[in-house]
Amino acid sequence: MSQWDSVIRDLSRARKGYTLAGATALIGARGEAEKTDILIGGGGRIEAVGAPAARSDCPRLDLSNLTVSPALVDAHQHLDKTQTLKLASNPSGTLQGARDAFAAFARGVTPGNLAARAETTMRRCLTRGATAIRTHVNVDKDAGFVGVDVLSGLREQWADRMTLQCVAFMVPHPRQDYDWLAANIDAAALKADALGGTVAVAEDPERYLDIIFSAAVRHGKPIDLHMDEHLDAGRQRFDLVFERVRKFGMRGRVVLSHCSVLCAVPDDVFERIRDQILELDLGVITLPAANLYIQGRGQDLLPPRGLTRVAPLARAGVKIAAASDNIQDPFIPTGSGDMLEIARWTLLAGHLHASELPIAYGMATHVPAGLLGLGADYGIKAGARADLLITDCEDAERLVAGGPDRMIVLSRGRPIARGGSIAANL
Ligand SMILES: [Zn+2]
Repeated sequence: MSQWDSVIRDLSRARKGYTLAGATALIGARGEAEKTDILIGGGGRIEAVGAPAARSDCPRLDLSNLTVSPALVDAHQHLDKTQTLKLASNPSGTLQGARDAFAAFARGVTPGNLAARAETTMRRCLTRGATAIRTHVNVDKDAGFVGVDVLSGLREQWADRMTLQCVAFMVPHPRQDYDWLAANIDAAALKADALGGTVAVAEDPERYLDIIFSAAVRHGKPIDLHMDEHLDAGRQRFDLVFERVRKFGMRGRVVLSHCSVLCAVPDDVFERIRDQILELDLGVITLPAANLYIQGRGQDLLPPRGLTRVAPLARAGVKIAAASDNIQDPFIPTGSGDMLEIARWTLLAGHLHASELPIAYGMATHVPAGLLGLGADYGIKAGARADLLITDCEDAERLVAGGPDRMIVLSRGRPIARGGSIAANL
């Protein structure tokens, strides 16, 4: 029996816990490799890390030649919209076309349909190694509360396998009805883990941001904003957000997604915004699939990549994560739920260097875990949840560059999927 097969057999038999012995553990945001033992308790948490970490009543699994990484984290999805590609058509391929297509679909969506689609994507993400997802969920006059009701329910149903966070996505669409948003944001906040919205399309961004920030303070919730998905340098709204982060005392509790316009503004404007992001301890999430697909439509010559300035932000120490965004819907027709694929695209489209593969690894693991506030629950350390990947990649660079040929996904210490590109019997 191969080492791989015996690990799978022993994992499925271990009830009171087990030790992953002699593994190469990827430690920290850059995934530095370190040979160690990892003792997993029967409750699905890591009890000890270090050689030798063992308990007499727990089997030792020989993981020499195999690598253990913390599981992947997808910090930005839209599970209310996922798998609607054939249900809500967007022939133009533009952001507005997608918003109109989904708004029309959302008026008639049933809770059962929404839950089935969301769970299809959640299952795919889990089997590809993501054990935590933050999803934005539309709350507006078209979608009402169906999405936030269904997804907050799935958050509880899936809690033994996956950490699901819901962002109440207060969409100023289609009639910019701020009175409706202001009247309903408290009810949404009670069911959500964070509050969000889309700043660039708000016709009255100051009032819109005040509604979101004041509700976040009332409910003690963090904020996760879609900043912009356009490349018009004259329409950046970062200063309005910075002003409110200070005024409402939200330093360190706000995440800014997309930020595409930063690749269009002059260097001095970019540097000033970057410095404010650092000073206010804000997170940034880049979403390469959306930006590559949606930005620059209508520009035949040299169409832009549309991503934010990924490499300069990462090199300056900004907490920047990468995420899937939409999966197979009118916004993005593709998506497998594989965060390693997203990390790969981020490196390519974000113009990181080969030597920066470890940065791309961190953008799919520790950085998004930090932005989601997973804290002590995440990582290879005593007390953390045993949400881990066992792979045949020898280091973090190879995990991002090519992905594993063989992989076991552990969620709360239990093996829940085996994957990779080589069939088990080869
Ligand atoms: Zn999004």
